[in-house]
Amino acid sequence: MTIAFDRLTEADLPDVFARRESEVRSYCRAWPTTFESASGSWLTDDRGVRYLDFFAGAGSLNYGHNNPAIKTALCEYLLSDGVVHGLDMATVAKAQFLEEFERLILAPRGLGYKVQFPGPTGATAVESALKLARKVTGRESIISFTNAFHGMTLGALAVTGNSMKRAGAGIPLVHATPMPYDNYFGGVTEDFHWFERVLDDSGSGLNRPAAVIVETVQGEGGVNVARSEWLQALAQLCRSREILLIVDDVQMGCGRTGQFFSFEKSGIVPDIVTLSKSISGYGLPMALTLIKPELDVWSPGEHNGTFRGYNPAFVTAAETLRTYWRDTTFAAETLAKGERVRARLEDMAAADPDVSARGRGMVQGLKFADPSRAGRVCREAFDHNLIVETSGPTDEVVKLLPPLTTSVEDLDAGLDTLATAMLRTA
Ligand SMILES: *Cc1c(COP(=O)(O)O)cnc(C)c1O
Repeated sequence: MTIAFDRLTEADLPDVFARRESEVRSYCRAWPTTFESASGSWLTDDRGVRYLDFFAGAGSLNYGHNNPAIKTALCEYLLSDGVVHGLDMATVAKAQFLEEFERLILAPRGLGYKVQFPGPTGATAVESALKLARKVTGRESIISFTNAFHGMTLGALAVTGNSMKRAGAGIPLVHATPMPYDNYFGGVTEDFHWFERVLDDSGSGLNRPAAVIVETVQGEGGVNVARSEWLQALAQLCRSREILLIVDDVQMGCGRTGQFFSFEKSGIVPDIVTLSKSISGYGLPMALTLIKPELDVWSPGEHNGTFRGYNPAFVTAAETLRTYWRDTTFAAETLAKGERVRARLEDMAAADPDVSARGRGMVQGLKFADPSRAGRVCREAFDHNLIVETSGPTDEVVKLLPPLTTSVEDLDAGLDTLATAMLRTA
């Protein structure tokens, strides 16, 4: 591994960023170098220094950077003058994606979902899910969970927990009520029964909600893992009270936790599912809203958007499904890699009383009693050529999100770097 020569700061970036790019920029401040190319689990900057990527575009690069098989399909499509922009016109690329998604993902799992193309981002998928739930039920309020993350548009922000991001809205965020996520009270109080109780109490002040929106593992919220029993009880509660269940699988879907959907392990079947980040397989913008057929009450054009038909993403998504999801091998490999990462993190945590390990599948994290140390660990890791970020309400968790295709050797090398960063910051 190439070692960076010096401790880079923002001042080392080309001036144009500070001069012209909005103050809102953030990742370039954490990793102040100028990236030029990328392959598999590695990024290379303009000095030729290589970085091992345990961030993977916040989970948008589950199959690595510039994955060769997917790249070939994309290049062939572009070179053949395949349609690039298509709104929601019928195209060959879209038909092929839908057929592969049906054949390789929905049918084998016995899922009857209709597929909506809501727009190119996770937030647009969430917005469409919330709008549809309100239309179907005729109710306004949505139940969300503590430390949830669902995106930056106003509807999605209303069901997001983070106070700094919420404040950015500049207006009241309404029609959403947060409830405690699994283990919010550290297992001391049965958090779930609280929700059940207020739902059934006509004096609780809680309006009957249209839907519940939940992540099975909260990625941005600090790698909080909901137990299967908790998800099952939530699904049961929703069913018995005729409240729709939306699973936001934008970050945890597409194999991150092993199986294609993160909720498969618990056996629940959500009414609506949102997917984005890794669905294109190549880091191209794409999102899906999956809807139980009886809930598909949209009128034509009622939710639209200019970039709902980005055909290159349909091509890469279809190729990704053919390459990785024709059988259960990839899921099994992901689970084995996840266990390997987890074992190493448990070792690091055992040696350090202020640290604990958490996660599921290939989303794993280390939680620090001193939040500032998590940031220092990430900075130390960057100085030693490892890209890894913090998450959680006080950025107290180092979150590992390597591409699922990362080799065991690279996983071990990254974990070695992390272990060294832990020692240097102890
Ligand atoms: C990233 C993310 C979103 C928002 O997706 P964008 O593409 O950034 O709009 C929504 N939900 C979850 C769980 C996410 O991780």
